[in-house]
Amino acid sequence: MHLQIIVAFAMLLWWPENPPKDLWLSDPFWCPVFAWAVPVTCVFLGHLITKRTRLKLKTRTDRVTAALNSFHRQTSLLRMAMLAGVGVTLFMTACPQQLMDQPYISVLSGLPQMCLLLPYLVGLIALWWVIHPVEKASRDAGFLGSTSSRFEYVIFNVRHQLLIVAIPLTLIVFAYAATQENRDWFVKHVGSPWAPEAILGSTATVLFVLSPLLLRYIWSTTSLPPGPLRDRLESLCKRINLRVRDILVWHSDGQMVNAAVMGLFPQLRYILLSDTLIEKMNDDEIESVFGHEAGHIYHHHIPYFLMFALASMLIVSGVMEFLTRMSGGLNPTWNLSRETIQIIGIGALVPLWGICFGWISRRFERQADVYGAWCASPHESELDCQKPCAIHDPNDPPTTAANEIGVCSTGAQVFVGALRKVAFLNGIPPAEPSWRHSSIASRMAFLTAQSGDPIMAKRFAGKIRAIKRTLLVCCAIGLVIAAVYIWNQPGYRQDIIRSVFKPIGRLFGQ
Ligand SMILES: [Zn+2]
Ligand SMILES: [Zn+2]
Repeated sequence: MHLQIIVAFAMLLWWPENPPKDLWLSDPFWCPVFAWAVPVTCVFLGHLITKRTRLKLKTRTDRVTAALNSFHRQTSLLRMAMLAGVGVTLFMTACPQQLMDQPYISVLSGLPQMCLLLPYLVGLIALWWVIHPVEKASRDAGFLGSTSSRFEYVIFNVRHQLLIVAIPLTLIVFAYAATQENRDWFVKHVGSPWAPEAILGSTATVLFVLSPLLLRYIWSTTSLPPGPLRDRLESLCKRINLRVRDILVWHSDGQMVNAAVMGLFPQLRYILLSDTLIEKMNDDEIESVFGHEAGHIYHHHIPYFLMFALASMLIVSGVMEFLTRMSGGLNPTWNLSRETIQIIGIGALVPLWGICFGWISRRFERQADVYGAWCASPHESELDCQKPCAIHDPNDPPTTAANEIGVCSTGAQVFVGALRKVAFLNGIPPAEPSWRHSSIASRMAFLTAQSGDPIMAKRFAGKIRAIKRTLLVCCAIGLVIAAVYIWNQPGYRQDIIRSVFKPIGRLFGQ
């Protein structure tokens, strides 16, 4: 969900400076009609799906999971369709130009861009409004005991799904539009032709680093009160050497069982546990879920994801540069326009993220699961372990890095129990596939299998090491190739000297 909203905003950064010549739709009346027709249709379909699912939930009580499963799939397809609508409006209709020509909209840089996104954002909110009855019916079927009204449900989703990404990204869109439209001013005052890009990059970096603070206030959170649970989690932090700014309770009015970790740096890092998670799980299970979040930090998953983003950017720019070279010059091999090359570039991002990112993310989730199980395994005395256990074997005592050699069967059991509760209470059918996390059933099976099989555990650790090494190598090779290539193109080299080195030299020369 968050990723789809990020993609919607990211598309705005390709805001066409000069509209492409062959538009699919350029009529001043039909352009806005199309832009609004997509979300309106999707919301209407969402209403029909909701009605049908509610009926199924009432009449076919033996098929509750299947009904919910297909409901979630259908609503996510509707969201995808709305996202595709943004893409078509932006790249294939005259909407962007029409918005730029409106005197009262174009008065503020960035406002036309945000207006283009408006139908999508309204569509998302309206879709939450129409699907609420199913969320309620699934809870009536015994999944999660929330009494939220429809309005509260929409507000909750707007805060948690939408605003958390939309607020920082809106700021970036405004910064982008302002720097692009006042390019000459920035270039003159900073002294580098790349000043707008540098300013935009720094704005994005600052927002990314500060995002945990933003999150603390956009989501309704409070510090976890002192007591046995807090003591226990704090001593776990000490044991695994994890530094966080605070442990927060995430108030969801009983709407979700979830935990999250936010922040690259310890000074701005929070671990969040939802209110219902704390209420419905025992302390062992909470500790294991907390351990899962800690595992993401311990295994440096966020920096590796950033590396993935860098590598995919390098690959796509490489492909686009190659196509541009082959389509230019005196006798071009192909005759591709600039727009076609851009579309191919964006098209290449889809398999990279859709397939590769999802695959890596699912492996990282499993590694965090293993870490969570390890945090929940008996650490003071192995007598607490409900044997048989691969690592608490009295004949073969474990070494220090227990999570490297396998999973304790007791720890695994605790975490599997926590996962079962997460699935049941959130109303997620355990077999429902998840692109970023993989299905809960498969995670439970994986952990159970690992706890009885140290060789499998070793093989898995090796696989993760290989993924991380590949990411590192891809980034390093990509950067070296890019640097050498740029340096060998006289035009690019002059650009870099003029735009980067000279301004920096002037800065230090003064
Ligand atoms: Zn996770
Ligand atoms: Zn054990």
